[in-house]
Amino acid sequence: MDLGLTGRKALVCAASKGLGKGCALALAREGVDLVITARGAEALEATADEIRRITGARVTTVAGDIATEAGREAALAVCPEPDILVNNAGGPPPGDFRDWDRDAWIKAIDANMLTPIFLTRAVVDGMAARGFGRIVNITSSSVKAPIAELGLSNGARSGLTGFIAGIARQMAGKGVTINGLLPGAFDTDRLRGGINAAAQRSGQDAEAVADRRRAAIPAGRFGQPDEFGAACAFLCSVHAGYITGQNLLIDGGAFPGTY
Ligand code: NAP
Repeated sequence: MDLGLTGRKALVCAASKGLGKGCALALAREGVDLVITARGAEALEATADEIRRITGARVTTVAGDIATEAGREAALAVCPEPDILVNNAGGPPPGDFRDWDRDAWIKAIDANMLTPIFLTRAVVDGMAARGFGRIVNITSSSVKAPIAELGLSNGARSGLTGFIAGIARQMAGKGVTINGLLPGAFDTDRLRGGINAAAQRSGQDAEAVADRRRAAIPAGRFGQPDEFGAACAFLCSVHAGYITGQNLLIDGGAFPGTY
């Protein structure tokens, strides 16, 4: 299927690794010009080179913390009028809600709620004026089904999801769609880090912990960033103009509900 995205411009945040990289690569495969960001310049440049090599796409990098005003300004200075915005940032740490003070909450809200809201605010009117825009927010399955130790994620991402539900309807008549992509367990550094930490805490072998987690997923495996990216590219495509304000779980069947 031709996704109709050749020549479009995308700003893909937090894209040197994992799910953001999966989205960037999938869009590049469709002929999209990319601006990708991450804090670590070395991994970011390596990813940009890899995407150029695989796809031949034009890839520009902006190293910086997207959860800060300076980081967002730097990204928007290089890509002020994207046709596609993929909002992403690192997830908050796990823990016990009794230990999270105001600072911990503000960090989570900054990265996983306010950053995508501010980036959306910066680009959405331009998209509407040009009659085409796609905004995809990488959130989490925790929006649909809370994960006890990830309360910071449950809370901050639900705030984003509530805001997006409103603005998506305001923009629906202007060719702009805004959707959430909700990853379950995907095989990335973040997932591996969580598995290693759980293994250390329990004194078990990391592969045994990973096997148990895989076994709890109906698909029997972790997701791959490439398949996450393919879903993102479809949501950005010309064929997905009637899909807006939705929250699409990609979790191998892990969520046990009917809806
Ligand atoms: P990952 O493999 O650790 O990759 C994170 C990427 O984001 C890296 O490129 C990292 O580069 C960049 N990044 C992190 N914080 C950033 C910041 N403040 N500014 C700019 N770039 C930043 O993580 P992932 O698994 O792809 O997760 C992506 C998002 O999905 C996270 O919010 C995570 O919580 C959420 N999620 C993931 C899963 C999963 O199973 N993987 C499940 C549910 C939700 P630098 O460190 O160099 O900045």
